[in-house]
Amino acid sequence: MPSAENSPARSTLRRRRAVTSTRPCPVCHCREVWHLHTMQFTLPEASPLPRQYAVVVCARCGSGFADSDAQATTYDTYYRSFSKYADPAVATGGGEAPADLQRLEQLATDLSRQLPRHARILDVGCGNGGLLKRLRLLGFQELTGFDPSPICTARIHADAMNAESITLPLERSWWHARNESPFDLIVLSHVLEHLFDVKAALQSLIALLSPGGKVYIEVPDPTRYDTHAFLPLYFFDTEHINHLGPASFAFLADQLKLSLTASGPKTIRLPNGANYPALFCFLEAGGLTDLITTESLYGPLQDYVEQSIQRLAPLRMRILSLVGDDTPFVLWGAGSLAQRLIAEHWFPRHSLLAVVDRDSKKHGLQFAGTTILPPEIALRDLPNRTVILCAAAITTGEIKADYQALGMPYIFCPIVEDVH
Ligand SMILES: [Zn+2]
Repeated sequence: MPSAENSPARSTLRRRRAVTSTRPCPVCHCREVWHLHTMQFTLPEASPLPRQYAVVVCARCGSGFADSDAQATTYDTYYRSFSKYADPAVATGGGEAPADLQRLEQLATDLSRQLPRHARILDVGCGNGGLLKRLRLLGFQELTGFDPSPICTARIHADAMNAESITLPLERSWWHARNESPFDLIVLSHVLEHLFDVKAALQSLIALLSPGGKVYIEVPDPTRYDTHAFLPLYFFDTEHINHLGPASFAFLADQLKLSLTASGPKTIRLPNGANYPALFCFLEAGGLTDLITTESLYGPLQDYVEQSIQRLAPLRMRILSLVGDDTPFVLWGAGSLAQRLIAEHWFPRHSLLAVVDRDSKKHGLQFAGTTILPPEIALRDLPNRTVILCAAAITTGEIKADYQALGMPYIFCPIVEDVH
């Protein structure tokens, strides 16, 4: 890895003026940042999340994050009540879809090599318990899940495992009052990118770690956002508010007085055949870590923004060629892609007839001047020339099969084709 002082990103940084952020850096709490891009979203009216944020990079630790005036409580409310992870029909992490099942089986197998079978394991952000179930199949018995959604934790209880509906950071008194044994492994797989305050969350969790216990962290890999064939700005959505790189892990280890014992890239195969870039690390209780790298994410994230802006033009042309001439259309999917596209000034909202989604938590919500409904209800009795515009980033194939099974006469047009 090139040294931070000589890297091209660092020389660009010297010429840029830092600004003061509203939200402190989630990794080091600094407010001195470089601004990269402004994101805008059209969200369901009831959503507490901000409609706009700035993508910034911390001048101290080099982590990327979404800067807005939203508070920790904003995200707590969202994940307790609005989260897609509560609905197994659309969530990842429950292990229901074959690609998701494979990912969780692989992670459980990898983790099992590190631990004896009597180890106590905590999965933070456990969703519907997909990883816990795989670990149980491998012979682990002492399994606990934490998740903000009470629907998720009730499902895990029904499956005879321990689960707590909590938000992070934990209140120290809460856990100590329970007098439970500490954990030998705490897993945070695709969780830290969602948290308002990563440092405080980890600080509260490591109090639950046994002497010599380990923390496993996995996040999307910002150093490889631009090398994967995803939609423009795909990695900047309303839920992923942190972008953590190798330097972020090293910084966290140093601040939390943990050892960074392993880290590296990892690739996840998605249902549509795309490769999702991820980054993992193990932190261990005891010992100190020298900062291995101080490489800022400014360079990789700036490259990603520039590449995304270039790639937005053909996407706009495609959508306008499909529905830009007042063709009535229905948007299938009210997720991140729809939320970003509808916020674009050129998006032909005036001929949008309805928005449909399979996520039962979204049904009945007001969105882009219409009400989100299940497809069976919203697609009845529309003009035959209606276009079904599929606004899914990674599940187009599944939605196409779902639509065809309805036997309706409209034209199905994906915004994004599957990779395979
Ligand atoms: Zn920072």
